Amino acid sequence: MSMPTTPATLDRFLTSAHQALWAAVDDFATQEILPRVDRMESAPQRVDQRIARLLAGRRWFGVTVPETFGGMQAGHVAKTILIHRLARVSGAAAAILQASLIPVAALLYYGNHEQHTTLLPGVADGSVLMSIAVTEPDQGGHIGGMQTAAEWNGSAWVLTGVKAHVGNSHIANLHVVVARTAPAGTRTSKALTAFLVQGDQRGVSLVRHSGKLGLRGFSFGQITFDRVRVLPENVLGEVGQGFDVAQSSSILCGRPNLTAVSLGLHETAVSLTAQYVSNRPRYKGKLADLSVIRERLGRMSARLIMAKILTYHAVDMLDRRLPCDDELIAAKGLGHDLASETGNDAMQLHAAKGLDSDDPIQRIWRDMQTTYAPAGTGEVQRRRLAENLLQEETGENSRTPYSVLHADGIHPPPVAA
Ligand SMILES: Cc1cc2nc3c(=O)[nH]c(=O)nc-3n(C[C@H](O)[C@H](O)[C@H](O)COP(=O)(O)OP(=O)(O)OC[C@H]3O[C@@H](n4cnc5c(N)ncnc54)[C@H](O)[C@@H]3O)c2cc1C
Repeated sequence: MSMPTTPATLDRFLTSAHQALWAAVDDFATQEILPRVDRMESAPQRVDQRIARLLAGRRWFGVTVPETFGGMQAGHVAKTILIHRLARVSGAAAAILQASLIPVAALLYYGNHEQHTTLLPGVADGSVLMSIAVTEPDQGGHIGGMQTAAEWNGSAWVLTGVKAHVGNSHIANLHVVVARTAPAGTRTSKALTAFLVQGDQRGVSLVRHSGKLGLRGFSFGQITFDRVRVLPENVLGEVGQGFDVAQSSSILCGRPNLTAVSLGLHETAVSLTAQYVSNRPRYKGKLADLSVIRERLGRMSARLIMAKILTYHAVDMLDRRLPCDDELIAAKGLGHDLASETGNDAMQLHAAKGLDSDDPIQRIWRDMQTTYAPAGTGEVQRRRLAENLLQEETGENSRTPYSVLHADGIHPPPVAA
């Protein structure tokens, strides 16, 4: 019997189906993604169109979609395996997958039967590629400050505004757009509505993609909505439920997705550095022989073990339908922090070599910078954890994503046996 390739650290979280998926995505990442990495890095102005098609070919955009709609119905641990193992090879490829899985969660949790029947088979086969557009240029992570608005004109909603940093902005063909639909003074928890907007609808336009520090090949750009007409059947959830849609999908799904991206990058930073110091000559041996270097490597290894456990523990709780807001926050926030510390150690141990723009460790370090902001910055996460600890009632903020779903009788889709 062949030994599983999965680490024993994660044994308690992984079934044999997870182990098979782990091996399949590793193989795919090596065969299909790795050969594209240099090209993506050397062309920061280019959005990679092909990776999404390759992922769609595996039906991985349907990892959480129920089998009745053609999906894998494989749950959050499986989704994490896909993102984590892709990120090990390419942060951009992992980002392309994760960014569309967030709005897929919104559709799963809040879509009605008609929307599920019409859209989920396309999600599963990759022909419907989704984005979620919540953030705005001036309001950033403050959802309640959003200015994009939709007005009812008697037969349709008319949507106008600008959304920023939208993951997969330039390749998605269906956007979940959250906009203000209530008069000024209405509480945020009742003032917003989520809409399904086709990418090619009149009034939808993209700002030209510009290169970013990291995740080259992935687009997270600006989309403008200029008097876009949205029919009532394309409201996602109820009118006034947009805050819950944004919060539950972005946070419940977005947090673990970004955690998985961090984890994959973290793992590669450790292995590249171990390899580098083991081969670089110093005195009569190698850099790795020096105790001061080993001390750093030891810390890197310990952080990686912690990040792995945090990540898989949180998503395993999600699959088991246990309340896990705090665990998701801790995994996202600490996962990024631990990876960043390791990334800095890795860069310093590569010293001047890490400054070469084509050195892989530099790509990993640059990609690591991108997981801080999305799905809640560190400050926002820590503030939420403190509120939960102090059990403070802070208006809309006290409705945690998990409790929102429970209160509404909505549960994460079941995992196939
Ligand atoms: C790779 C990537 C993918 C993304 N994908 C999407 C997507 O698919 N859809 C989408 O809608 N958005 C997306 N975003 C946007 C992301 O959600 C925002 O970057 C995030 O909400 C923070 O907004 P901001 O960057 O404008 O920072 P700001 O909110 O302006 O924050 C600036 C600084 O102030 C701090 N701060 C802000 N508010 C507070 C507070 N209340 N208390 C204490 N400190 C505070 C922040 O922590 C940060 O340090 C993505 C971003 C990135 C980088």
